[in-house]
Amino acid sequence: MLQKDDITSMALFRNKCRKHNLKSTPQRTATYKELTGSKDHPTASTIFDKVRKSFPDISFDTVNRTLLTFSEIGLVSVVEGYGEPKRFDPNLQTHHHFRCVKCNNIIDFHNKSLDNIKIPQEIKTLFTVMNKRVVLEGICDKCREK
Ligand SMILES: [Zn+2]
Ligand SMILES: [Zn+2]
Repeated sequence: MLQKDDITSMALFRNKCRKHNLKSTPQRTATYKELTGSKDHPTASTIFDKVRKSFPDISFDTVNRTLLTFSEIGLVSVVEGYGEPKRFDPNLQTHHHFRCVKCNNIIDFHNKSLDNIKIPQEIKTLFTVMNKRVVLEGICDKCREK
């Protein structure tokens, strides 16, 4: 990841924490850093394995709770679930997902015309849309090679 991105995301992190009276403890900071450093929409246990390297005493529960708190304060989003462990996404910009049905990898992609899709009127009437994301499903390049 570019260094400029790191600085902006850390500023966002401190900002959000301050706004929500959340202490930016070293453990929370490490959890956030590991998450923003991952491009693959990791689960809490993946993040836990990474954070544990620097904080051997940290529990899975703490990491999991921290991630859920991050999603509550709008610092990360929780990616659409399929009855699997929750997946977290540090990318707060409008983007779309390609999900591989074989390996469950979720890959970000950007596309201007998908960003501007029109919400059907009946959906607008019935529900409040907070986020527009297109999810394409199929077989990723790695699984296709096998
Ligand atoms: Zn795959
Ligand atoms: Zn994403």
